[in-house]
Amino acid sequence: KLFNEVQEAKGNIRVFCRCRPLNKAEISAGYNTVVDFDAAKDGSLGILTVDVFADASSMVISVLDGYNVCIFAYGQTGTGKTFTMEGTEQNRGVNYRTLEHLFKISNERSETFKYDISVSVLEVYNEQIRDLLATGPTSKRLEVKLASEGFHHVPGVVEVKIDNINEVWSVLQAGNNARAVGSNNVNEHSSRSHCMLCITVKAKNLLNGACTKSKLWLVDLAGSERIGKTAAEGERLKEAQNINRSLSALGDVISALAAKSSHIPYRNSKLTQLLQDSLGGESKTLMFVQISPSDQDLNETLSSLNFATRVR
Ligand code: ADP
Ligand code: MG
Repeated sequence: KLFNEVQEAKGNIRVFCRCRPLNKAEISAGYNTVVDFDAAKDGSLGILTVDVFADASSMVISVLDGYNVCIFAYGQTGTGKTFTMEGTEQNRGVNYRTLEHLFKISNERSETFKYDISVSVLEVYNEQIRDLLATGPTSKRLEVKLASEGFHHVPGVVEVKIDNINEVWSVLQAGNNARAVGSNNVNEHSSRSHCMLCITVKAKNLLNGACTKSKLWLVDLAGSERIGKTAAEGERLKEAQNINRSLSALGDVISALAAKSSHIPYRNSKLTQLLQDSLGGESKTLMFVQISPSDQDLNETLSSLNFATRVR
């Protein structure tokens, strides 16, 4: 098999586990596969092998219906988060496919609804929000604010209106290019920052005039690997602490939601502040837990699976 996926659904949060194949380097170094999906399927877990994109696409309908949605990829660096979310031009990922579906369905509904669709691309690095579509110098600090009732936003952030799917790829590329600016190693930088697309959909029902505004977040999270405490110093240590802080804040929010807790701790990181409207309440969440098949990565794999089980 090229890859494996399992899915587990619980209320409004769905979890996929996606395992990449062993790569050439791992094979030639003699590492073995320690991940077995079939064993899980035959056991009492009741998980299924499913099509990753079918589920992501179906959530698009919810966005057009006025619900907030969050789709994110979690996992150790090198396990396929970017492969799942961004994909490549030949093999497009969740970002492109969900947007493609969004435009398809909105066109099918054009007699009844008028949709306004816009995109922002943000990066969160060291607990700071950066606008990847901003042109020119941006000295002002971006913060999450509560606008109208229950609607969080980032004042001053660039929102690019998109009319059709052909415009999407270039906007996503512009965001990617901006990400590279100011970092000497793009891959390292991207593994330590969260890359977040926000699609805002304004819908007007042409029959009764009713309007809704909803958000779809598509998030490629920073790598979840633990960074050796002794190895990290200075800037590197600060990065590691901020990554841990935001990923554990995300885990805390999700497990508080799953436990139907009365207090959901959204305020603890920029990541959870940004995602607030799209996690919990009536919103729908889809999480990809990306893992490596290699015995070398077993500890990280177990910790990622642990994160996934916090949802239950
Ligand atoms: P991450 O973003 O989590 O650091 P990447 O998306 O960059 O990881 O993936 C690391 C490498 O593994 C890339 O070369 C990617 O093409 C490959 N890869 C990831 N997932 C799969 C998969 N399901 N099938 C084939 N190759 C994959
Ligand atoms: Mg990546």
